[in-house]
Amino acid sequence: MTALDFREATLPFAPIADRIFVGGTWRQGTGPAFEVTDPSTGEVLQVVHQATTTDVDEAVRRGRAAAEDPAWRSLLPHQRAKFLHRIADAIEANTSRLALLQSYNTGKTVAETTALVGSAAGTFRYFAAVLETADEDLTTPRGNYLTMSVHEPIGVIGAIAPWNSPVASDAQKIAPALAAGNAVVLKPAEWTPLVSLELARILDETGLPAGLLSVLPGKGSVVGDAIVHHPGVGKVTFTGGTNTGRAIAHAAAEKLMPVSLELGGKSPTIVLDDADIDAAVNGVMYGIFSSTGQSCIAGSRLFVDRRIYEEFLAKLVAKTQRLRLGPSRDPDTQVGPMVHRKHRDSVAAYVDLAREEGGRVLCGGAIPDDERLRDGAYYLPTIIDGLPNTSRTCQEEIFGPVLVVLPFDGEADLVAQANDSVFGLASGIWTGDYRRAWKLARRLQAGTVWINTYKQFSISTPFGGVKESGLGVEKGRSGIAAYSRQKSIYWGLDEEPNPWAD
Ligand code: NAP
Repeated sequence: MTALDFREATLPFAPIADRIFVGGTWRQGTGPAFEVTDPSTGEVLQVVHQATTTDVDEAVRRGRAAAEDPAWRSLLPHQRAKFLHRIADAIEANTSRLALLQSYNTGKTVAETTALVGSAAGTFRYFAAVLETADEDLTTPRGNYLTMSVHEPIGVIGAIAPWNSPVASDAQKIAPALAAGNAVVLKPAEWTPLVSLELARILDETGLPAGLLSVLPGKGSVVGDAIVHHPGVGKVTFTGGTNTGRAIAHAAAEKLMPVSLELGGKSPTIVLDDADIDAAVNGVMYGIFSSTGQSCIAGSRLFVDRRIYEEFLAKLVAKTQRLRLGPSRDPDTQVGPMVHRKHRDSVAAYVDLAREEGGRVLCGGAIPDDERLRDGAYYLPTIIDGLPNTSRTCQEEIFGPVLVVLPFDGEADLVAQANDSVFGLASGIWTGDYRRAWKLARRLQAGTVWINTYKQFSISTPFGGVKESGLGVEKGRSGIAAYSRQKSIYWGLDEEPNPWAD
């Protein structure tokens, strides 16, 4: 592929034509036409006719047949792992294409989306390695028999993804699900279907058996709902907002179907009085303003020791005001647009609410006054203080470049405030004392704690939320088991294994 100019106003190649991927077949969706836009400019990137509930039914039926076909089901682990390696190679070979598509469709900078494509390829490689090295258990018998516990595929996995990081979140669901021997029916977010469709093209070209993957763009209330309720879907893996996750959990309970939920957050970042201030300022900014704050783990609630509060805040505000906003593919851009103008408007409404609640807007708090950015979905990086932790601004997920700052007096006060949230996804601690960091990390109600760093991810480290931030974990060595059913097998060793039946 020739070098691409990241400053191009329009996507320098055509995205996949108006097609959806149903059980191995490319065809136009029979649902409504949807304009997929570029949030940097507001231009239409592609019109996609969405899937319908009939497509869902067909995708599930074909997925089931493909998953049950011995050509897939009976593959030995190293044979199935070969597919995953091939997919990883193909993703890497398509890095700039996938990165640009995601950047144009979501507004993330090309640097971020390039890293996400690398992470997607790494996810397939990691689960290939886990698959090849996984052991089944020979359990300790309590009689004259041999006992085993084996893992088997569930069948068809329904995967429902949000718009913020499609390439990475798709890979996190597809790779372990395929590794476990399942088929996947994926519904990308309505605003951002292009990357998932491109991923389907790439997987299709690797020779993955037809039916094992379907990508069905459409509305959550139609396509997502049909996937969740379909009797042929054996598990749903969902990443998105807490309210949607709760509704899916209700439906899953009715079907007695396992479900894994990666949900929202309002993650506290903590700066103790002994922290390296400059490192903490940079880390806090990266934690909230990278990806324009549209990250489930964004460090959106900042707690600073009152003794260094004013000094820290002054530095933080000054540096934040220097952040460079711009189109996602301009290499100078640090903060791109939000995913969609509708979402930008909901973030702006939250800042209005913060003002009504009595908050002080220390910087940002507006749409940028810049002719160049007029048609995009931009919002200035915003810092607010002066609100109690009980305010809605401090409690609700805004999912944008909005940081709320609170002082604390002593660790008891800090822990009480940091944990006073319905969410428990992530947390960050900045300190020069590793003992304080350890003790604090153990007291925070969060699925992940970063110490003197933030927003770092490793596929080998399990990830999940507590409280209303999620149910179940993804990634890590047990990631494949989450897409399997455990079965116990007893081999009788006695001539007459049962005592009285003759
Ligand atoms: P969302 O509104 O919950 O949507 C997520 C996905 O669910 C979309 O594909 C959506 O379709 C679909 N959906 C909506 N209603 C549905 C229903 N009734 N049945 C089945 N599917 C349905 O979330 P979002 O606004 O796209 O994403 C932002 C949220 O995701 C934030 O809360 C963020 O914290 C969370 N998130 C969490 C993680 C994590 O790992 N914990 C990672 C990333 C994002 P539409 O396209 O129609 O909306």
